[in-house]
Amino acid sequence: MSTLQAPQITVLASSRAIISGELTAATIVISLPIGRITSIFPSVLPPTAFPFGTPYTDHTPHLLLPGLVDAHVHLNEPGRTEWEGFYTGTQAAASGGVTTVIDMPLNAIPPTTNLHGLREKIAAAQSQCWVDVGFYGGIVPGNVHELKPLIRAGVRGFKGFLIDSGVAEFPAVSSADIAVVMEELADEPTTLMFHAEMIPPISDSAGDDVQWSLPPLTPIGPLNEYKTFLASRPTSFETYAISEILSLAHLAPELQLHIVHLSAVEAIPLLREAREAGVRITAETCFHYLALTAEKIKDGDTRHKCCPPIRTQSNQDGLWDELLREDDSVIKTVVSDHSPCTPELKLLPPSIPGNQLPTPPPEEGAKQAGDFFTAWGGVSSVGLGLPILTTSAYENNRPITAEKIAKWCCENTAKQVGLEKRKGKLAVGWDGDVCVFDDEATWVVGGNGGEGMLWRNKVSAYAGKRMRGCVRETWVRGRKVWERGADRLGFGEGKPGGVLLVEKRQN
Ligand SMILES: [Zn+2]
Repeated sequence: MSTLQAPQITVLASSRAIISGELTAATIVISLPIGRITSIFPSVLPPTAFPFGTPYTDHTPHLLLPGLVDAHVHLNEPGRTEWEGFYTGTQAAASGGVTTVIDMPLNAIPPTTNLHGLREKIAAAQSQCWVDVGFYGGIVPGNVHELKPLIRAGVRGFKGFLIDSGVAEFPAVSSADIAVVMEELADEPTTLMFHAEMIPPISDSAGDDVQWSLPPLTPIGPLNEYKTFLASRPTSFETYAISEILSLAHLAPELQLHIVHLSAVEAIPLLREAREAGVRITAETCFHYLALTAEKIKDGDTRHKCCPPIRTQSNQDGLWDELLREDDSVIKTVVSDHSPCTPELKLLPPSIPGNQLPTPPPEEGAKQAGDFFTAWGGVSSVGLGLPILTTSAYENNRPITAEKIAKWCCENTAKQVGLEKRKGKLAVGWDGDVCVFDDEATWVVGGNGGEGMLWRNKVSAYAGKRMRGCVRETWVRGRKVWERGADRLGFGEGKPGGVLLVEKRQN
């Protein structure tokens, strides 16, 4: 063999790795031509076990995790690229050990509600992605005939809203729309997902006519107080929406259903009962519901606005209890729901980091700083998931383990989007996607030149937060695309090397 020949394999080892879901010592061999794991040895082998010149690193005592699959990200390109984009959003993902992101069908223009929209997405994403990227399709009124073509074109699932989505081009669906969609997708290899908030009928209305309140519930109190916003989106919005979905589930008993960003613990018993009755339904929750609480959100700090809202500490405790159940938790996945916008649309008051509003305050009639009802909803966090989980667990003494994190954020998210034979696990035959995680190191979000905030707009509820646990390296299909302190590696010469995952789902 010529010494000038490029290496055919790369080797990563550690005394601590999550291999097929178990913590163990391991030496992982990745074939570079195919980008897949070709062998795993259950101990740390020395470099001399491999041909001379083989790239080899023993990462002990740091953890080797499967690359994270973030199954809920809004990249907003094309059309709202000033909010986020493929390049910045996926680079932020790479910096946090996320090796696959699945892009939501709304907030880009056009939305991904037909083949044209998907093609626009694919064209915009070409050569821009630092990690592998898949796409969801959207369910909107009247697009039922677009769904099977989107499945054939490789979408990873579908999402619909039961309440106003916040953007005009992605309207909510009614129960009648959902029924038609379920019949259409009943035998398809896909996942049907819902933003499950819905305005319940007013129960004490007089007479036979059911009355409906205006969305959201009319605010009672100052618009810049978080408690006013929280009260306007009560847990009954979630339980009502989920009951509605469950009432239709019999139309497609084989179809996988999924609730995105579950926030209200009150919905958990409904989902458990349905699962016990055989309904194929799962739920995800988000890093922010597991780490942030209503009690600590300052008035006007709209960086925390999202829908459904961040709820109380006791609600957060309930979500953790469910996640950490030893038996069948209804919450299978934890995702970011990274949904940024420009700082102007967040309407941050001058006292909040990231504020971009003119001072002195804008003229009469202009949008008011700190108004939770007018500010765009979304918490920027793609790439911060691992430290958010480990820090929140550490601060609250929760019995979290690396195996559990890998289940929620890698294996189960890959399964949710039909990539479980390729992503989400360190196993022979799977893609060589690896996150090297130092679970002891502490660092500050936004410190050291903006660490952890590589999104297009540097506004986040986590800015300034001291984190425990940091990602040291990220590998995608055997290439190191990220190294802490030596950023912008990409697939060599700083080129992003992510591929677009647009094969048809098989399951
Ligand atoms: Zn979302």
